[in-house]
Amino acid sequence: MAEPLYLGIDLGGTKIATAVVSRGGEILAQARGPTPARHGVHAVVRAMAALATEAVNEAALDLRSLAGVGLGAPGPIDAEAGLVVSPPNLPGWRNVDLAELLGEMLHTRLVLGNDANLAALAEHRFGAGRGCSPLVYLTVSTGIGGAILLDGKLLSGVRGTAGEVGHMVLLPQGPLCGCGNRGCLEALASGTAIARQARESVRRGVPSALAERFASQPELVTAASVAEAARGGDLEALIILRTAMDHLGRGVANLVSLLNPERVVIGGGLASLGPDLLEPVTAAVHRLANPVAASSVSILLAELGPDAGVLGAAAAAM
Ligand SMILES: [Zn+2]
Repeated sequence: MAEPLYLGIDLGGTKIATAVVSRGGEILAQARGPTPARHGVHAVVRAMAALATEAVNEAALDLRSLAGVGLGAPGPIDAEAGLVVSPPNLPGWRNVDLAELLGEMLHTRLVLGNDANLAALAEHRFGAGRGCSPLVYLTVSTGIGGAILLDGKLLSGVRGTAGEVGHMVLLPQGPLCGCGNRGCLEALASGTAIARQARESVRRGVPSALAERFASQPELVTAASVAEAARGGDLEALIILRTAMDHLGRGVANLVSLLNPERVVIGGGLASLGPDLLEPVTAAVHRLANPVAASSVSILLAELGPDAGVLGAAAAAM
């Protein structure tokens, strides 16, 4: 019998990626394209169906021969009902029955999951968290998301909201978070939080490489420009980045004390900081977490990069 193959579809706010994936996580064919988010739900669903068909055709298969189709979308998601609830980066989407809409167009059943959960599944099956339990996964980019896997299964909670690590409150008087609370991990350590701190520093006139470069347009400062200035040895950029990573470390230390995980895997855009992320986070875990839990955990960067989305979607269908 031929090896079972799966289709993974990853819907992002700006890009759609699709791939035909083997059980071992090998990508056999893929197709990518922009998300026509401004043109509404149906245009997005049509674009997803076209890219899914393109990947399947490129693998010289047809959809009926696949063993399963998985679909990842930005949270929040009601996975059981197959609904995309109200993703902040897909304006106008409210309780969209995405699994059914796309399933009808492709004449197949789909398994739906949120992108952070699926990236965690992918790292557990194919990447830096292979076979580990408990596994804690964090994605640190514009926001901070996460997932907890026990014996390879997502801890979902009663209504599927478990693993929202970005909204642990670390500083009750801290900066305002998109969720309405103050001092959430996401408001202190995400790419958005780092950029905001740096803009404030430029506006206050603190001398730095950032102030020199962005004095007339502080709104253009991004987390990437802070990282670049820090690599060049700029003290203010180093302080902003280090403060954010210390907060991230405190969040991870709490998770380590709470869950005694075998591994913590950190992915998302900020994982490209490499040792500048890993060292302060690991140090905070050793300083703050339960010592037995701290000595038995390894903290690693994610391995799968931008393919985590399609691989996780395929893994969800396995
Ligand atoms: Zn929050």
